[in-house]
Amino acid sequence: MQTHRYKPSASTKRIGIFGGTFDPVHLGHVGSAEALLEQQGLDELYFMPCQRHPHDKRPMANSEQRLAMLTLALQKQSSLKVDDRELSRLGKSFTVDSLTEIRQEIGEQTTLIFLLGSDAFAQLHRWDRWQTIFSLANVAVIERANTLSIEAIKIAELRQRVNQAVDFIDAPYGQITIASLSPYPVSSTLLREQLSQSLSPSTLLTEFMSPQVLDYIHQQKLYR
Ligand code: ATP
Repeated sequence: MQTHRYKPSASTKRIGIFGGTFDPVHLGHVGSAEALLEQQGLDELYFMPCQRHPHDKRPMANSEQRLAMLTLALQKQSSLKVDDRELSRLGKSFTVDSLTEIRQEIGEQTTLIFLLGSDAFAQLHRWDRWQTIFSLANVAVIERANTLSIEAIKIAELRQRVNQAVDFIDAPYGQITIASLSPYPVSSTLLREQLSQSLSPSTLLTEFMSPQVLDYIHQQKLYR
């Protein structure tokens, strides 16, 4: 498997990390990442696929296939890259472990932003050592269509963080921003359902997936 681990240069000051299963990657991921890259003035944004989801969500595509799909989906945007560290680590993929490693690699002063959708953020208090994430990185929450709105989150610890949100992150870690983007009404689950049902591409598939990723899925006979 190809390694895409990064080596930030001296000019890299603002890095984004987008963790997920990416089974498969879709426009909701890539479009949101591009918008965040722009809004937060990031130098680079790394998609970090997990090996094994801490909450036991097992991917249908294997690590190599998910990595191949990410590489195809991101090939046209040079600032969007892949960090495959979780795929080569055994056991559950805890975000806090990856961010600890990344922080050691980039040093104290580089701004690190961890991206996640509002559905994932609403569950953040269940993540392993979740509070430590804020001492390693900033957090950018992307509002997702058809899920609980960030404003409706009741968990006090998360509410408190949301109330402290800033528009533009200007610290190496510890801040939170709620990205105001037009939400993409798509999920990998929805796409897998479509792919399992039809052989001819549906509007949903062509609208929300890169043609190269779609070709790869057909070629590998994935999600049938
Ligand atoms: P599944 O349907 O299999 O649960 P998913 O579409 O939610 O998959 P993941 O790979 O699990 O995709 O998500 C990775 C990250 O991307 C999560 O933080 C998730 O909230 C976020 N995300 C997924 N889809 C969108 C979307 N349409 N808009 C914004 N964020 C998204």
